[in-house]
Amino acid sequence: MVVMKFGGTSVADRAALDRLMAIVRAQRQADAQQEGGDARGPIVVVSALSGVTDRLLGVAAQAGAGDIDGAIASLRDLHQRHVTVSEVVTDEAIRTALLGDLAAEFAELERVVAALGVLREVSPRWMDTIAAAGEILSSRIVAAALNAQGLPAAWVDSRLAVVTDGEHQAAAPQFPETTAALMIHVDPVLAAHRIPVMGGFVGATRDGVTTTLGRGGSDYSAAIVGSCLGVGEIQIWTDVDGMLTSDPRIVDEPQVVPHISFAEASELAYFGAKVLHPATIQPAVARNIPVRILNSRRANARGTLITAERPVSERPLTAVAAKKGVTVVDITSTRMLMAHGFLGRLFSVFDRYRTPVDVVTTSEVSVSVTVDDARRLPAVVEELSSFAEVSCEGQMAIVCAVGDGLQRDPAMAARVLAAVGDVPLRMVSQAAGRRNITFVIRERDVPTALSRLHETFFAPYPVSASVAGTRG
Ligand code: ASP
Ligand code: MG
Repeated sequence: MVVMKFGGTSVADRAALDRLMAIVRAQRQADAQQEGGDARGPIVVVSALSGVTDRLLGVAAQAGAGDIDGAIASLRDLHQRHVTVSEVVTDEAIRTALLGDLAAEFAELERVVAALGVLREVSPRWMDTIAAAGEILSSRIVAAALNAQGLPAAWVDSRLAVVTDGEHQAAAPQFPETTAALMIHVDPVLAAHRIPVMGGFVGATRDGVTTTLGRGGSDYSAAIVGSCLGVGEIQIWTDVDGMLTSDPRIVDEPQVVPHISFAEASELAYFGAKVLHPATIQPAVARNIPVRILNSRRANARGTLITAERPVSERPLTAVAAKKGVTVVDITSTRMLMAHGFLGRLFSVFDRYRTPVDVVTTSEVSVSVTVDDARRLPAVVEELSSFAEVSCEGQMAIVCAVGDGLQRDPAMAARVLAAVGDVPLRMVSQAAGRRNITFVIRERDVPTALSRLHETFFAPYPVSASVAGTRG
């Protein structure tokens, strides 16, 4: 059985919902073919229609500022958008029932907003109640639409099925309790050969107070549900083809990475591979459940598969990425020579000013670090200067070559650096895990460095296999 999670753009409008239904139908047919009458699922998890969570948080802000009329006008606008999208439900009776559910949901939101507008205060708890409506609404629409198309679905209230702690806006799932709740609210639906449809991002505490898992939390919901139920695969349906070998704005023709390990995906996430936040799929990876990123606009493209480990590929690298806007801080002190405690003292300064450090290299008397949030850097530098010499250089970039293959081939580090050629390197780092080689260069050298790396390691045909006669 699989969990299929559809993001905001994959449920944005009627055309998107038509694609979603075709994708769910195809999965259902594939399962039936493979498993016959015993086939269960899929479980469908959806985001709010794209843009709706932002709008709802805006409504909450309006209410908090006492602008009740403005908040209610925004809600009516949102209501209309959901009514329009509901035209996708082709069965008259099912659509009427759905419109009644949507109206009840919006009536409740209006009451909440009116009350908060009088109080002029919106606590995180009420923020969650308002924000959660986006997924409650979208999941109701999807369940109705599937039913109207003869795909037997049942709406599942995520506030009953996903149990969290009370940390509003960043709630943590309680796994044993969620598993028990899923057995009550989802398992019977599956046993009746129906498709459970639930909103992502949303849960509730043990006491039934609505919570959300944090922005982008629908992927997390899919992973939580999938891992609690021990499904065979989690599919993340989005609007891109998967993870790419490099940044399409910088290199020519990056390719989709067919298979990536969780550790590799985590390294790349820092570099803005925004397809998903690796932390959100961690529960799935921990249980060895494969996660597949797929494009709902091109359902037949193979996408990117993420697993805890991945099989050896002929390509030594999986991807190359860069991050601009980085500052290098050089800290030199002869006191560091054969002394202890220096690094601790140094990093405690960054810690005190809550400034994350990314790449670190050291020699006997100096430490270089990179910082990408330089807001508190002047204060950091001032404090460091009391015990070391400090210099900073802005407009730098981190380039990272990622691949589990780096662990196998001892010559890879040299090959990566050779490919970069004459671009000056300010820092070079390879951690003991040897899953990536990271170096720091000037921002303006990024296009050259990244293109050279990509051409060397991601030629459309593996170089050894390109026979002149067949290509020329
Ligand atoms: N709708 C929520 C958000 O926009 C959750 C999600 O889409 O994953 O953050
Ligand atoms: Mg998302």
